[in-house]
Amino acid sequence: MNATGLAAVLARLHAAEAAAGRRRGEVTLLAASKQQSAATIRATAADGQRVYGENYVQEALPKMAALADLDLSWHFIGRLQRNKTRDVAMHFDWLHTLDRIDLARRLSAQRPPDRPPLQVLIEVNVSDEATKGGVACAEVAALAAEIRGLPGLCLRGLMCLPAPDPDPRRQRAAFATLRATLVALGDPALDTLSMGTSADLEAAVAEGATIVRVGTALFGERT
Ligand SMILES: *Cc1c(COP(=O)(O)O)cnc(C)c1O
Repeated sequence: MNATGLAAVLARLHAAEAAAGRRRGEVTLLAASKQQSAATIRATAADGQRVYGENYVQEALPKMAALADLDLSWHFIGRLQRNKTRDVAMHFDWLHTLDRIDLARRLSAQRPPDRPPLQVLIEVNVSDEATKGGVACAEVAALAAEIRGLPGLCLRGLMCLPAPDPDPRRQRAAFATLRATLVALGDPALDTLSMGTSADLEAAVAEGATIVRVGTALFGERT
């Protein structure tokens, strides 16, 4: 990572905010730091980047320990396995990929009482891909209602990772679906839409993203 990657992504993000008539700095940049070393994250943090997303618990924990002297916010954005809920509940600030009530119950029970509730997003499978995680739009309200009863969790909104699509109109349609699903829940406490990556952050910001998750454009192609 060099300062150029971060500066270029922030410039893109600010241009997207302006194009959408949104306030500069309104959208949070989450650095998707899978495969990046603790040293790379430390350098990015020195340039001012605070929020990081990790996909694999076993990869994330040593990096989080090595960077514990920094005030970083850690988001779990990978597929959550049942045997990893305790680590996520113990160590992360946010979880973007909640899609099962049994995992929600475990996370709530395992969240240490001296920490604030785990901030969670329901992952929605907006493009109805059979292989993807996430719940169908029609199932979101029922899952949200169950999560609201769990003291260790704080439901903040929705997340999606649509199938890659080069057409900006179709990119926007997928993100518009996520936004409409959030609006339909009718709960002003749900203030977060995590959507958009290196390939489609402009479309996501145009449709109301509050967090974009960017890896490649910040750190280069993963191996
Ligand atoms: C890796 C990852 C990203 C970032 O994707 P890029 O194309 O590298 O910007 C975003 N969201 C999730 C869930 C990811 O796993």
